[in-house]
Amino acid sequence: MMNNVTVVGCGAIGLKTALEIKKNGFEVNAIEEHTAIGEPSNCSGLISKSGAEALKLDLTESTLQKIKGAKIFAPNWKNIHILIN
Ligand SMILES: Cc1cc2nc3c(=O)[nH]c(=O)nc-3n(C[C@H](O)[C@H](O)[C@H](O)COP(=O)(O)OP(=O)(O)OC[C@H]3O[C@@H](n4cnc5c(N)ncnc54)[C@H](O)[C@@H]3O)c2cc1C
Repeated sequence: MMNNVTVVGCGAIGLKTALEIKKNGFEVNAIEEHTAIGEPSNCSGLISKSGAEALKLDLTESTLQKIKGAKIFAPNWKNIHILIN
């Protein structure tokens, strides 16, 4: 039986997927089109509380600002306003 899996793309989801597949006993090859993983950076540093908890991240010392909502704009300037409880 073949136990090799190839994950294409080493972004957050691809790497998490590769780790989970590896944990289940498969050999994993992860392929990334860029020469360095994580570059260019696609993160402004915003992370949800539930996301941090799911990843078991301790943000005590790295949190610069807590936010209570956001206005998200489409290219035509229509926007939605999200409020977080
Ligand atoms: C400017 C910017 C700021 C952002 N800020 C935040 C933020 O503050 N907080 C937040 O939660 N989210 C933020 N995001 C969104 C966040 O980056 C994405 O939700 C997240 O990266 C999605 O992860 P992913 O693994 O699904 O995809 P990606 O991170 O896009 O990873 C996909 C990977 O696959 C590779 N790839 C694609 N096609 C191929 C191929 N054919 N062969 C090989 N490799 C391939 C790509 O190079 C890339 O590395 C931001 C996005 C941008 C653009």
